[in-house]
Amino acid sequence: MTYPTYERERILNPTEEDIREVIKEAYYNGKDKTHLGNLAHYIPELTKRDPDAFGICRMDREGKLIEFGETETRFSMQSVSKVVNLALALKYKGAKEVFNHVGMEPSGDAFNSIIKLEAKSDLPYNPMINVGAIQVCSLLANEFEFEEVLDFAKILCKDDGITLNEDVYESEQGTGDRNRAMAYLLKSKGVLQADPEKTLELYFKMCSINVNARSLAGLGLIISNNGEDPITGKHYLHPEYVRILKSIMFTCGLYDASGEFGVKIGMPAKSGVGGGVVCATKGPAGIGIYGPALDQYGNSIAGVAALEHISYRLHLHVFDFV
Ligand code: GLN
Repeated sequence: MTYPTYERERILNPTEEDIREVIKEAYYNGKDKTHLGNLAHYIPELTKRDPDAFGICRMDREGKLIEFGETETRFSMQSVSKVVNLALALKYKGAKEVFNHVGMEPSGDAFNSIIKLEAKSDLPYNPMINVGAIQVCSLLANEFEFEEVLDFAKILCKDDGITLNEDVYESEQGTGDRNRAMAYLLKSKGVLQADPEKTLELYFKMCSINVNARSLAGLGLIISNNGEDPITGKHYLHPEYVRILKSIMFTCGLYDASGEFGVKIGMPAKSGVGGGVVCATKGPAGIGIYGPALDQYGNSIAGVAALEHISYRLHLHVFDFV
């Protein structure tokens, strides 16, 4: 069954049932697209996934889930971890210090591009591309053990079951020369804030932690709710920092497809080459996605299609003012 986007009406004040129906439509929309994408091939461990897999989960402020497909399948967080790294850096270093060391501009280049670092600026353009996330990890690596950052990820994702996937970690290390090049280039410019190997260990490990679509829905919910877990009432991040996170996700979260995603979908989101996408929506609510078949930019092809459907049908674009 398929539900083509734009052929259905927008729902301005959706009921719980409406939302369920729209997420279901989005699931089938996405599932229909998986065959058009490809698994990430440059990290061997990621080629072992089912390219047809797809799951979507929405978590609301009461913790209620609406989910379809593979929402419990574990997969590596990859670049979605860049959100956790930035959140921790903002929390402990403050925004001023963080942005003394990394920019806040979309790069317009691929996630693993190094070109602007040589040609334009000694500081990485933003924390959502590899070189920027490596720089953010260098701000953390002297003060935090990996286990502490992992614990923070567990809290933000509302998921105690997140662990390090040793096979993916090994695979990342085995094929991570481009990331190594970035860390050493940053060091050569005198901007890296910790030892490159220590920095890379944290970066690679955070890419290799095993989440699922539910964990990403939890992360999206806390971001959407300004850093407070609405279910426990606990505050984990200052709202100012969460606004920064959302802004950076909005402008840079989908790599060099961020502009198009912003125009068409208009919600803060972050993707990873493991097929994960986290999205924070009005509501507040979080959406987590697992769809390892990727488009040309490295974003989940089914995930982007599903989010486009949800944004349109539920009127969730941030610039849908009325
Ligand atoms: N581990 C991957 C890398 O460093 C993460 C990239 C991604 O998810 N876009 O290349």
